[in-house]
Amino acid sequence: MEGINHFEVDSGLSHAHADASVTSAGVGTWAFDPATRSFEGSLTTHSLLGFPEGQEIVFETLLSRIRDEDARRLAEALEAAADLDVQIRVLRDGQQHWLRVRGGVVGTTDRLSGVILDIDRQKTVEEALRTREEHLRSILDTVPDAMIVIDETGVIQRFSRAAERMFGYTEQEAVGRNINLLMPEPDRTRHDDYLDRYRKTGERRIIGVGRIATGKRVDGSTFPIHLSVGEMNSAGRRYFTGFLRDLTEQQRTQANLQQLQSEIAHVSRLSAMGEMASALAHELNQPLAAISNYMKGSRRLLAASPDPNAATIKTALDKASEQAIRAGQIIRRLRDFVLRRESERRIESVGRLVEEAAALGLVGAREAGVLLRLHLDSASDLVVADRVQVQQVLVNLLRNAMEAMSESARRELTVASARVFDGMVEISVSDTGPGLPDTVLAKLFQPFFTTKEAGMGVGLSISRTIIEAHGGQMRAETNPTGGATFRFTLPAAA
Ligand code: ADP
Repeated sequence: MEGINHFEVDSGLSHAHADASVTSAGVGTWAFDPATRSFEGSLTTHSLLGFPEGQEIVFETLLSRIRDEDARRLAEALEAAADLDVQIRVLRDGQQHWLRVRGGVVGTTDRLSGVILDIDRQKTVEEALRTREEHLRSILDTVPDAMIVIDETGVIQRFSRAAERMFGYTEQEAVGRNINLLMPEPDRTRHDDYLDRYRKTGERRIIGVGRIATGKRVDGSTFPIHLSVGEMNSAGRRYFTGFLRDLTEQQRTQANLQQLQSEIAHVSRLSAMGEMASALAHELNQPLAAISNYMKGSRRLLAASPDPNAATIKTALDKASEQAIRAGQIIRRLRDFVLRRESERRIESVGRLVEEAAALGLVGAREAGVLLRLHLDSASDLVVADRVQVQQVLVNLLRNAMEAMSESARRELTVASARVFDGMVEISVSDTGPGLPDTVLAKLFQPFFTTKEAGMGVGLSISRTIIEAHGGQMRAETNPTGGATFRFTLPAAA
C-alpha cells in the first residue's frame, strides 16, 4: 500500500489533485470497482493506455489492448481485490509498450486504486542486459578455455561449461565449494594461504601474469593447464576470475614433433652416410677399376716370363684384383643397407605429411615474412610412403626454399598436390626465390654440390634417392615468373 498512499490517492475517483504531481513523472492514477467493472483513469493513465482524453475506459476494451497473458493476469489481480503489482504489454499507436500497474484496496471497500507507470526504458535496459548476459554465457560456453569465478575466500561462484568438461564436475557440484577441490597437492592445502597472503600484502604472483599449473579432475587424474587470473570488485567484494586452458593436447603435439624431429635427424644421418658411401663408391670405382686393369695387364706380361716365381706372383695379382673389386662392393652394399633398412611404407595422408613437415621445416618462417600456401588435392590425399623419409624430403625442400627467398622481396611458398598419370600423386614446392640458373640445374642433384657457404650439398641427392626408392621421380625447374619449383611423385594408395 505504500506506493499508493505515497501519491495521496484516497477515493480513487477524484484524480485531479494527485495527478498533477505525478503526471510529469509519467505516472497515472486509476480506480477500479470489481462489482461494476468500471475502470477510471487520470489523464496520464488515458495516454499511457492509449485512450483519448475524456473517452471512457471500458474495461473490456482495455483488456483487448493488452497482450493476452498480461490481460489475464491483470484481470485476475483486479478481480481478486487485493494488493497488486502487474507488468503488462499494451498496444498503443500500433506499438507495444511496457507498463507497470500497482494498486491496493481502498479502505474497507472492495474498490481498488493505484498507479500506472511507463517502464519501457527499464524493460529495454533489462532486455539489453539479458541479451548481453546470454551473449556472454554463450561465448563462455563455446570457448575452449574454462572460466571459473571465485570470491576472496576461494569459494567457487561460477563454473563455465568448458570447466565442467575439463574437470568433470557440474556447475551445481562445483559452485559453493573451495577452488582447491580442483588442485592436486601441494597447491590444494596451500591455496587458502595464497589468497590470504594476497589479501594482506597485495603482492601479485599470478594475477595478470598467467602460468602453467596442474589441474585435478573429479576422477583424481591430473593434467597440465595454463592459468591466467583477473581480479574484479563488485558491490564492495573482491572476486577472481580464472581462465584455464587444457595443455594436454599441446604437450602431446609437442612431444610428437620432438619425436618426429629426432626421427628425421636420425634418418638424415643415416642417409647422409649412405649418400657419402655411394659417392665414395662412385669416386673409388675408377681408381679401383684402374687397379684391376693394371693387375690384368701385369698378369699378361708375366705369362711370358721365365721367372720361377711367376706362378706365385700371378696368384698374388689375381688376389689383389679380387680385393679391389670387393672394396667397391663393400661400399655399395653399405649404401644399400643404410637406405633399405629405414624404409617402412604405409598409407599416408599427403595433407598430414605436409602439415607435419611444415611444422618442422618452417620454424621461423613467420618471422622471416614467408607466406605459406597449400593447394592440396583432397581427392588424391593418400599415398604409399615411408612417412619419416618423405617428411625428410619435404623438410629439405621447404628449408631450401626458405633459404633461397631470404633476399627476395616477395616470399611466397606454395605446396601443391595433384593426381598425375600412372597412379602417382605429384607434390610440388614452389618459391619466389632467385630460381635455378642452368649451371646449378645441371648439378643440383649431385652429391656434395652446394652454392652455400655452410652447405653440405647432400639434401637434394638424398631426397632424389628416397623418392626413386619409392618408385617416384624428382625434378626441378625455374618458374616462368621466377623462383624454383621442385616436384616429386609418390605412388597413390589404391
Ligand atoms: P645444401 O642446401 O646443403 O646446399 P642441397 O642438396 O639441398 O644442399 O641443395 C643444393 C643446392 O641447390 C643449393 O646449394 C642451392 O644452390 C640449390 N638450391 C636448392 N634449392 C633451391 C631453391 N629452392 N632455389 C634456388 N636454389 C636452390
